[in-house]
Amino acid sequence: MFGLFARKGPFTAKLSPCGKSIQVKAGDNLLKAALEAGLPWPHNCRVGSCGQCRSRLLSGKIKPLNDFSYVLDDKEMDAGMILTCQTCLRSDVEIEIEMDQPGVALSAACSVSGRIASTRQLTHDIQEVRIHLDESLPPYLAGQYAELAVPGVIDKPRSYSFASAPENEDGRHVSFHIRHVPNGQMTGWLHAANREGEKVTVTGPYGSFWLRNSSAPMLCIAGGSGMAPIKALLEQVSSQGFQRKVTYVFGARTREDLYCLEEMQQIKAKGNGHFNFLPVLSREPDDSGWEGLRGHCTEILSLERFADIPDSHAYLCGPPAMIDSAVKCLTGAGLCEKNIFFDKFLDASHLPGGRA
Ligand SMILES: Cc1cc2nc3c(=O)[nH]c(=O)nc-3n(C[C@H](O)[C@H](O)[C@H](O)COP(=O)(O)OP(=O)(O)OC[C@H]3O[C@@H](n4cnc5c(N)ncnc54)[C@H](O)[C@@H]3O)c2cc1C
Repeated sequence: MFGLFARKGPFTAKLSPCGKSIQVKAGDNLLKAALEAGLPWPHNCRVGSCGQCRSRLLSGKIKPLNDFSYVLDDKEMDAGMILTCQTCLRSDVEIEIEMDQPGVALSAACSVSGRIASTRQLTHDIQEVRIHLDESLPPYLAGQYAELAVPGVIDKPRSYSFASAPENEDGRHVSFHIRHVPNGQMTGWLHAANREGEKVTVTGPYGSFWLRNSSAPMLCIAGGSGMAPIKALLEQVSSQGFQRKVTYVFGARTREDLYCLEEMQQIKAKGNGHFNFLPVLSREPDDSGWEGLRGHCTEILSLERFADIPDSHAYLCGPPAMIDSAVKCLTGAGLCEKNIFFDKFLDASHLPGGRA
């Protein structure tokens, strides 16, 4: 008689090739369980849009929370690929997942309350928001992000990348660069008035965008508030003493959209000639006197300009279209996809069916 009732979990997910196993509680998705276990499981949006958490189901039964075919193509579906952030388990399973640098231990995310300590206008549409936490968050890696919630004001949390390397914060503060998105709920609220003192909740850390152990030349590309995680990565490289060549291409529309120039100058001063910062403007008036690079930042990614693209590690952050275009240029110039790391700043308008 008891056999009539299906088991609801917890279930075990056996992972290959690493050989580890994780427990997945009833109702939890597989990615959540993996991140709670501190595994460096590739992921970005955690809402079924970016596809970075894809892995292969080798055996067992799952319950998809959404239609994977929004993101996975027919070939991937036929091969048994699944989106782990959209997967609950119906039985014990075996999963094939290629984890990056499996030795890296990531902190399990945790929620901490706090208040907005200060805000600072960085450009006409990007604000630095500094938060004082009531207690410390679990340690994050430069490049990772957190979810920011404003209870009772915003319907659900939004993701923002930490804008400083953890060694440059005091443990009780975190900072973000937040761009005002037209008709955006969270950014509309933040930019509409002085929000200092407002109560917020920060949950994290999340994300697979962190510095890989390597001496390969580093090519960073960012647009807009994509500056935040790249700045954090550069601060980490700087505090490690610049053991590698680093080039940072920052795309903006006009000179008014450039920011953190002083911070880039300070990083350059510590770079012993290893760091080059290249702002590129796409809409700067011809007669403005701007003597730097012009065009979209991806237009300058040629082998003529950067002969070492094929041997580099590329770190990209910002709007999804910019990242797609940069990945195309870099792979076209001979860089292997596994050496391209990125965080797409997806918002509700990019999600399948407009889900957020
Ligand atoms: C991993 C990650 C890191 C990020 N880091 C940063 C960062 O450091 N800095 C930063 O500025 N941003 C970052 N973002 C983006 C950020 O999370 C928010 O998406 C962004 O700030 C917009 O939030 P919002 O509430 O203002 O807009 P939302 O209210 O979420 O709306 C965003 C846009 O979608 C449209 N929209 C809303 N609902 C729908 C729907 N149902 N269908 C179609 N369109 C819809 C809105 O009109 C608007 O144009 C990151 C995103 C990710 C995934």
